[in-house]
Amino acid sequence: MAKCKFFLLLLILFAPFSLMAAEAHVHGVATMQLALDDSMLHLNLSSPLDSLLGFEHQPRTEKQKAAVRHMADQLHQAERLFQPTVAARCTLKTYSLESPVLETGKHKEHDHKGHEHEGHDHADLNAEFVFYCAKPNELRDLEVNLFTYFPGLLRLKTEAATPRGQSAAILTPSKRRIAW
Ligand SMILES: [Zn+2]
Repeated sequence: MAKCKFFLLLLILFAPFSLMAAEAHVHGVATMQLALDDSMLHLNLSSPLDSLLGFEHQPRTEKQKAAVRHMADQLHQAERLFQPTVAARCTLKTYSLESPVLETGKHKEHDHKGHEHEGHDHADLNAEFVFYCAKPNELRDLEVNLFTYFPGLLRLKTEAATPRGQSAAILTPSKRRIAW
């Protein structure tokens, strides 16, 4: 059993994104990897824009531009979206949002790939949120409230790697907590 866990840990540490990245872009679904590294809790979220925004092209109408702003506003309030175990006393340190529809921030130009034929291709949002936890040993779970703010999101595939162990779970609007 110990050996098996060690192997799992290696797999997660050395192939952090390959497992998830291999999964197709599916509307309504997003993926998130959670890793606790000393006191720092890293959450890496990857979602089709459709799951968060309802469309994936550059916003054209005022309504679409407002939808993009609304999405960004929600993501800027990560402490509402993600609630780690209270006793661990985690606070948001940094975050970055990356998507072709976001003009500012850490958006990279080369992420425009696949957008030559606007309206026919897919686009994602990739975000990283980093929390500092004063009592990381107390960290046992994470409540994910993305479903409240993004009704287009139906499933969130999660993987967690912490010194206490690893776990994987599929969260839904009625199952919002990942524990390890
Ligand atoms: Zn798509």
